[in-house]
Amino acid sequence: MGTDASPSNEQHTPVRPGVVLGPDGKPCKPCTAFRHWKPLKEKKTDGKSGSTTGTAAMMAALAGGATTTQETPNQEQEYRRPADCPPDVEELGRATWTFLHTTAAYYPEKPTPIQRANMLALLKSIPMLYACKPCGNDFGDDMSKNPAEKWVGSRERLSWWLCERHNEVNRKLGKKEWGCGIKEMDARWKDGPED
Ligand code: FAD
Repeated sequence: MGTDASPSNEQHTPVRPGVVLGPDGKPCKPCTAFRHWKPLKEKKTDGKSGSTTGTAAMMAALAGGATTTQETPNQEQEYRRPADCPPDVEELGRATWTFLHTTAAYYPEKPTPIQRANMLALLKSIPMLYACKPCGNDFGDDMSKNPAEKWVGSRERLSWWLCERHNEVNRKLGKKEWGCGIKEMDARWKDGPED
């Protein structure tokens, strides 16, 4: 659900290696890691690929590799985003996961039908509205394989389901997977670690 089938999303317009284009054909800041967005001095690439759209481009960008610069510690400093910069794919992702996991952590043990319906509406809105379209589309694909309807019946079930969805993205990005039990989730998102 929520896929953007706009033809312009398929266009391939070279702008800068690692930069993901949005449906309007312009660079999409919330789809691109800042380190690929920020112009660097002495940028070197092997010339194999330019910017493109979709998850493949994001993966190439995030994995670094052939499309990235050769960094020195000084250049690495330049990747630090100023606080008032619009969010890149990573900051938007961290903020969104923080919001979602925290909301799940404080979701009722026994939600009312209205609370369930609102939670479902919130989750289902992500594929359609998330500013990083390729991220939202992939999340929508994952949700269609793992429907949220079955999991909004309690805080524990919702926390587990959300953790699994996050792990799905973690796997895609080569990041560490998390244990999704309520103890792990509460330690991270509600109570803090045990003393
Ligand atoms: P994040 O993955 O943002 O996690 C934040 C914190 O959550 C971590 O520090 C950790 O403490 C905790 N955590 C980690 N895993 C779990 C888990 N399974 N359960 C509970 N807590 C956990 N980026 C892309 O490049 N491509 C995508 O397609 C993409 N899709 C996304 C889809 C959605 C719906 C969202 C919200 C984000 C997506 N992102 C995507 C962003 C990506 O998931 C990360 O947010 C981003 O790469 C920053 O990662 P991070 O390592 O700082 O930690």
